[in-house]
Amino acid sequence: MGPPSRRSALTPDVEAATAPTAPFLRLTTLWLQITGTWCNLQCTHCINASGPTDPWLPSMDARSIRHAIREAETLGVKEIYFTGGEPFLHPEILPLLNDSLAIAPTSVLTNGTRIDVRMAAALAHLASEAAYSLDIRVSLDDVDEHRNDRIRGRGAWRKAVRAIRLLAEQGILPIVTVTEIFSGPEDPTGTGMYQQFRDFLLSLGMEKARVKILPVFPAGRLASTKTVRLTEADLDGFDRSRLQCAEARVVTAGGVYACPILAGLPGAKLSSGSLVESFRPASLYHPACVTCYETGMSCRN
Ligand code: SF4
Repeated sequence: MGPPSRRSALTPDVEAATAPTAPFLRLTTLWLQITGTWCNLQCTHCINASGPTDPWLPSMDARSIRHAIREAETLGVKEIYFTGGEPFLHPEILPLLNDSLAIAPTSVLTNGTRIDVRMAAALAHLASEAAYSLDIRVSLDDVDEHRNDRIRGRGAWRKAVRAIRLLAEQGILPIVTVTEIFSGPEDPTGTGMYQQFRDFLLSLGMEKARVKILPVFPAGRLASTKTVRLTEADLDGFDRSRLQCAEARVVTAGGVYACPILAGLPGAKLSSGSLVESFRPASLYHPACVTCYETGMSCRN
Protein backbone atom coordinates (compact mmCIF):
# COMPACT_ATOMS: atom_id res chain seq x y z
CA MET A 1 0.00 0.00 0.00
CA GLY A 2 1.64 3.24 -1.11
CA PRO A 3 1.02 6.55 0.62
CA PRO A 4 -1.54 8.80 -1.10
CA SER A 5 0.27 11.73 -2.59
CA ARG A 6 -2.15 14.09 -4.26
CA ARG A 7 -3.19 17.42 -2.73
CA SER A 8 -6.61 18.76 -3.71
CA ALA A 9 -7.47 22.25 -4.93
CA LEU A 10 -11.18 21.39 -5.34
CA THR A 11 -14.07 22.25 -3.04
CA PRO A 12 -15.47 19.48 -0.77
CA ASP A 13 -18.65 19.18 -2.88
CA VAL A 14 -16.73 18.67 -6.11
CA GLU A 15 -14.35 16.30 -4.31
CA ALA A 16 -17.31 14.23 -3.06
CA ALA A 17 -18.79 13.92 -6.54
CA THR A 18 -15.53 12.94 -8.23
CA ALA A 19 -13.75 10.94 -5.50
CA PRO A 20 -13.37 7.17 -5.41
CA THR A 21 -16.17 5.31 -3.63
CA ALA A 22 -16.61 2.39 -1.25
CA PRO A 23 -19.33 -0.15 -2.06
CA PHE A 24 -22.24 -0.69 0.30
CA LEU A 25 -22.49 -4.37 1.23
CA ARG A 26 -24.96 -4.67 4.11
CA LEU A 27 -26.09 -2.87 7.26
CA THR A 28 -24.03 -4.46 10.00
CA THR A 29 -23.64 -1.38 12.19
CA LEU A 30 -26.07 1.41 12.96
CA TRP A 31 -24.75 4.58 14.59
CA LEU A 32 -27.18 7.03 16.17
CA GLN A 33 -25.79 10.50 16.73
CA ILE A 34 -28.40 11.16 19.38
CA THR A 35 -27.06 14.46 20.75
CA GLY A 36 -25.67 15.76 17.45
CA THR A 37 -22.56 17.75 18.31
CA TRP A 38 -23.81 18.84 21.73
CA CYS A 39 -21.25 17.97 24.41
CA ASN A 40 -20.31 19.29 27.85
CA LEU A 41 -16.61 19.08 26.90
CA GLN A 42 -14.73 20.65 23.99
CA CYS A 43 -11.79 18.36 23.26
CA THR A 44 -9.09 19.55 20.90
CA HIS A 45 -9.17 16.44 18.72
CA CYS A 46 -12.93 15.74 18.70
CA ILE A 47 -13.73 14.29 15.25
CA ASN A 48 -16.85 16.43 14.86
CA ALA A 49 -15.89 19.54 16.85
CA SER A 50 -18.58 18.95 19.47
CA GLY A 51 -18.97 21.39 22.33
CA PRO A 52 -21.33 22.99 24.83
CA THR A 53 -22.39 26.07 22.90
CA ASP A 54 -24.20 26.30 19.57
CA PRO A 55 -23.78 22.70 18.38
CA TRP A 56 -23.64 22.76 14.59
CA LEU A 57 -25.61 19.49 14.38
CA PRO A 58 -28.73 19.30 16.59
CA SER A 59 -29.83 16.47 18.87
CA MET A 60 -32.28 13.86 17.59
CA ASP A 61 -35.72 13.59 19.12
CA ALA A 62 -36.67 10.26 20.69
CA ARG A 63 -39.26 9.52 18.00
CA SER A 64 -36.69 9.72 15.19
CA ILE A 65 -34.24 7.58 17.14
CA ARG A 66 -36.87 4.88 17.72
CA HIS A 67 -37.86 5.06 14.04
CA ALA A 68 -34.22 4.49 12.98
CA ILE A 69 -33.87 1.56 15.39
CA ARG A 70 -37.03 -0.06 14.03
CA GLU A 71 -35.96 0.47 10.43
CA ALA A 72 -32.50 -0.95 11.15
CA GLU A 73 -34.11 -4.03 12.73
CA THR A 74 -36.05 -4.74 9.53
CA LEU A 75 -32.79 -4.35 7.57
CA GLY A 76 -30.97 -6.96 9.66
CA VAL A 77 -28.67 -4.73 11.74
CA LYS A 78 -26.19 -6.62 13.95
CA GLU A 79 -25.07 -3.89 16.39
CA ILE A 80 -26.02 -0.37 17.42
CA TYR A 81 -23.91 2.51 18.75
CA PHE A 82 -25.12 5.64 20.54
CA THR A 83 -22.88 8.63 20.04
CA GLY A 84 -22.82 12.43 19.87
CA GLY A 85 -21.72 14.86 21.24
CA GLU A 86 -22.20 13.36 24.68
CA PRO A 87 -25.02 10.80 24.59
CA PHE A 88 -25.71 10.97 28.33
CA LEU A 89 -26.93 14.56 27.86
CA HIS A 90 -29.97 13.13 26.03
CA PRO A 91 -32.94 13.23 28.42
CA GLU A 92 -34.27 9.86 27.19
CA ILE A 93 -31.02 7.94 27.04
CA LEU A 94 -32.17 5.10 29.32
CA PRO A 95 -35.51 4.26 27.65
CA LEU A 96 -33.85 4.55 24.23
CA LEU A 97 -31.10 2.16 25.27
CA ASN A 98 -33.80 -0.20 26.51
CA ASP A 99 -35.40 -0.17 23.04
CA SER A 100 -32.09 -0.69 21.30
CA LEU A 101 -31.06 -3.55 23.58
CA ALA A 102 -34.25 -5.38 22.63
CA ILE A 103 -33.00 -5.82 19.08
CA ALA A 104 -29.15 -5.78 19.03
CA PRO A 105 -25.96 -5.52 21.12
CA THR A 106 -25.63 -1.82 21.93
CA SER A 107 -22.68 0.42 22.83
CA VAL A 108 -22.55 3.99 24.11
CA LEU A 109 -19.54 6.25 23.40
CA THR A 110 -19.22 8.69 26.29
CA ASN A 111 -16.79 11.03 28.00
CA GLY A 112 -17.99 9.52 31.29
CA THR A 113 -18.60 12.84 33.01
CA ARG A 114 -22.34 12.22 33.44
CA ILE A 115 -22.04 8.73 34.87
CA ASP A 116 -22.60 8.97 38.62
CA VAL A 117 -23.58 6.28 41.12
CA ARG A 118 -27.23 6.35 40.08
CA MET A 119 -26.54 6.24 36.35
CA ALA A 120 -24.05 3.37 36.75
CA ALA A 121 -26.66 1.42 38.74
CA ALA A 122 -29.37 2.18 36.16
CA LEU A 123 -27.12 0.97 33.33
CA ALA A 124 -26.32 -2.21 35.23
CA HIS A 125 -30.02 -2.82 35.73
CA LEU A 126 -30.70 -2.30 32.02
CA ALA A 127 -27.88 -4.64 31.10
CA SER A 128 -29.09 -7.36 33.44
CA GLU A 129 -32.60 -7.31 31.94
CA ALA A 130 -31.59 -6.95 28.29
CA ALA A 131 -31.75 -9.53 25.53
CA TYR A 132 -28.41 -8.29 24.13
CA SER A 133 -25.14 -6.99 25.59
CA LEU A 134 -24.52 -3.41 26.65
CA ASP A 135 -21.04 -1.89 26.30
CA ILE A 136 -19.97 1.52 27.57
CA ARG A 137 -16.93 3.13 25.94
CA VAL A 138 -15.35 5.81 28.11
CA SER A 139 -12.94 8.21 26.41
CA LEU A 140 -9.67 8.95 28.16
CA ASP A 141 -6.52 10.12 26.36
CA ASP A 142 -3.79 9.79 28.94
CA VAL A 143 -3.17 7.97 32.21
CA ASP A 144 -1.82 11.28 33.51
CA GLU A 145 -4.53 13.69 34.69
CA HIS A 146 -2.80 16.90 33.61
CA ARG A 147 -1.85 15.71 30.15
CA ASN A 148 -5.37 14.37 29.58
CA ASP A 149 -7.04 17.57 30.76
CA ARG A 150 -4.77 19.66 28.56
CA ILE A 151 -6.78 18.46 25.56
CA ARG A 152 -10.08 17.32 27.15
CA GLY A 153 -10.63 20.14 29.63
CA ARG A 154 -10.14 20.59 33.36
CA GLY A 155 -11.79 17.94 35.52
CA ALA A 156 -12.43 15.56 32.59
CA TRP A 157 -9.89 12.97 33.76
CA ARG A 158 -11.25 12.66 37.32
CA LYS A 159 -14.83 12.29 36.13
CA ALA A 160 -13.93 9.73 33.46
CA VAL A 161 -11.91 7.65 35.92
CA ARG A 162 -14.77 7.85 38.43
CA ALA A 163 -17.13 6.54 35.71
CA ILE A 164 -14.75 3.67 34.90
CA ARG A 165 -14.63 2.65 38.58
CA LEU A 166 -18.40 3.00 39.12
CA LEU A 167 -19.24 0.97 36.03
CA ALA A 168 -16.79 -1.77 37.03
CA GLU A 169 -18.27 -1.87 40.53
CA GLN A 170 -21.67 -2.46 38.92
CA GLY A 171 -20.32 -5.32 36.82
CA ILE A 172 -20.03 -3.39 33.54
CA LEU A 173 -16.42 -3.53 32.40
CA PRO A 174 -16.04 -0.40 30.26
CA ILE A 175 -13.95 -0.17 27.11
CA VAL A 176 -11.52 2.71 27.57
CA THR A 177 -11.15 4.53 24.25
CA VAL A 178 -7.87 6.33 23.69
CA THR A 179 -6.93 8.62 20.81
CA GLU A 180 -3.26 8.40 19.88
CA ILE A 181 -2.75 12.11 20.39
CA PHE A 182 0.17 11.60 22.78
CA SER A 183 1.92 8.78 20.93
CA GLY A 184 5.28 9.18 19.19
CA PRO A 185 7.47 12.04 20.42
CA GLU A 186 4.80 13.06 22.96
CA ASP A 187 5.00 9.66 24.71
CA PRO A 188 7.30 10.32 27.68
CA THR A 189 7.65 6.70 28.78
CA GLY A 190 8.25 5.01 25.46
CA THR A 191 6.21 2.03 26.72
CA GLY A 192 3.38 2.56 24.24
CA MET A 193 -0.17 3.59 24.89
CA TYR A 194 -1.71 0.15 25.18
CA GLN A 195 0.71 -0.95 27.89
CA GLN A 196 0.29 2.29 29.82
CA PHE A 197 -3.48 1.98 29.83
CA ARG A 198 -3.43 -1.71 30.62
CA ASP A 199 -1.23 -1.12 33.66
CA PHE A 200 -3.37 1.83 34.72
CA LEU A 201 -6.68 -0.02 34.49
CA LEU A 202 -5.33 -3.05 36.35
CA SER A 203 -4.05 -0.68 39.06
CA LEU A 204 -7.62 0.62 39.43
CA GLY A 205 -8.70 -2.93 40.22
CA MET A 206 -10.25 -3.79 36.84
CA GLU A 207 -10.39 -7.54 36.44
CA LYS A 208 -9.47 -7.09 32.76
CA ALA A 209 -8.18 -4.11 30.76
CA ARG A 210 -10.40 -3.33 27.77
CA VAL A 211 -8.65 -0.68 25.68
CA LYS A 212 -9.42 0.61 22.20
CA ILE A 213 -6.86 2.88 20.54
CA LEU A 214 -7.88 5.19 17.72
CA PRO A 215 -5.71 7.27 15.40
CA VAL A 216 -6.05 11.05 15.30
CA PHE A 217 -8.27 12.07 12.39
CA PRO A 218 -7.88 15.22 10.31
CA ALA A 219 -11.47 16.15 11.10
CA GLY A 220 -13.36 18.52 13.38
CA ARG A 221 -10.99 21.03 14.99
CA LEU A 222 -8.02 19.25 13.38
CA ALA A 223 -9.50 19.28 9.86
CA SER A 224 -6.76 21.50 8.50
CA THR A 225 -3.94 19.21 9.62
CA LYS A 226 -4.09 17.05 6.49
CA THR A 227 -5.27 17.86 2.97
CA VAL A 228 -4.19 14.79 1.03
CA ARG A 229 -7.07 12.81 -0.50
CA LEU A 230 -7.44 9.32 -1.94
CA THR A 231 -7.32 8.66 -5.67
CA GLU A 232 -8.38 5.64 -7.72
CA ALA A 233 -4.68 4.91 -8.22
CA ASP A 234 -4.12 4.79 -4.43
CA LEU A 235 -6.92 2.23 -4.11
CA ASP A 236 -5.83 0.00 -6.96
CA GLY A 237 -5.74 -3.55 -5.57
CA PHE A 238 -7.14 -2.47 -2.19
CA ASP A 239 -10.26 -4.25 -0.93
CA ARG A 240 -12.64 -1.33 -0.27
CA SER A 241 -15.17 -3.57 1.45
CA ARG A 242 -12.77 -3.50 4.43
CA LEU A 243 -13.65 0.15 5.09
CA GLN A 244 -16.30 0.56 7.77
CA CYS A 245 -18.47 2.67 5.46
CA ALA A 246 -19.16 -0.51 3.46
CA GLU A 247 -21.23 -1.90 6.35
CA ALA A 248 -22.21 1.06 8.53
CA ARG A 249 -24.57 4.00 8.43
CA VAL A 250 -25.02 6.94 10.82
CA VAL A 251 -28.42 8.46 11.44
CA THR A 252 -28.40 12.09 12.61
CA ALA A 253 -30.99 14.87 12.91
CA GLY A 254 -29.78 16.09 9.50
CA GLY A 255 -29.87 12.85 7.51
CA VAL A 256 -28.00 9.57 7.03
CA TYR A 257 -24.22 9.50 6.56
CA ALA A 258 -21.53 7.01 5.68
CA CYS A 259 -19.56 6.89 8.94
CA PRO A 260 -19.24 8.51 12.39
CA ILE A 261 -16.15 10.47 11.38
CA LEU A 262 -17.89 12.33 8.57
CA ALA A 263 -21.44 12.51 9.99
CA GLY A 264 -22.99 15.89 9.28
CA LEU A 265 -20.59 16.83 6.47
CA PRO A 266 -22.31 17.54 3.13
CA GLY A 267 -20.00 15.34 1.06
CA ALA A 268 -20.79 12.29 3.20
CA LYS A 269 -24.58 12.64 3.21
CA LEU A 270 -26.30 9.67 1.59
CA SER A 271 -29.97 10.23 2.40
CA SER A 272 -32.22 12.89 3.89
CA GLY A 273 -34.70 10.34 5.12
CA SER A 274 -34.64 6.58 5.44
CA LEU A 275 -31.75 4.25 6.04
CA VAL A 276 -32.61 2.13 3.03
CA GLU A 277 -32.23 5.16 0.73
CA SER A 278 -28.66 5.52 1.98
CA PHE A 279 -27.66 2.07 0.69
CA ARG A 280 -25.40 3.30 -2.08
CA PRO A 281 -21.64 3.78 -2.43
CA ALA A 282 -19.98 6.23 -0.04
CA SER A 283 -17.67 8.92 -1.40
CA LEU A 284 -14.09 8.66 -0.10
CA TYR A 285 -13.55 12.37 -0.63
CA HIS A 286 -12.28 13.45 2.79
CA PRO A 287 -8.69 13.47 4.14
CA ALA A 288 -9.98 11.29 7.01
CA CYS A 289 -10.54 8.53 4.43
CA VAL A 290 -6.74 8.45 3.99
CA THR A 291 -6.40 7.66 7.71
CA CYS A 292 -8.90 4.79 7.39
CA TYR A 293 -7.07 3.46 4.34
CA GLU A 294 -3.63 3.71 5.93
CA THR A 295 -4.50 2.42 9.41
CA GLY A 296 -7.31 -0.03 8.66
CA MET A 297 -9.18 1.37 11.67
CA SER A 298 -12.83 0.98 12.52
CA CYS A 299 -14.87 3.00 15.01
CA ARG A 300 -16.54 -0.26 16.17
CA ASN A 301 -15.53 -1.87 19.49
S1 SF4 B 1 -13.64 8.38 6.87
FE1 SF4 B 1 -13.26 6.16 6.68
S2 SF4 B 1 -15.21 5.18 7.15
FE2 SF4 B 1 -15.62 7.36 6.73
S3 SF4 B 1 -16.16 7.42 4.50
FE3 SF4 B 1 -13.94 7.79 4.69
S4 SF4 B 1 -13.00 5.72 4.46
FE4 SF4 B 1 -15.17 5.43 4.91
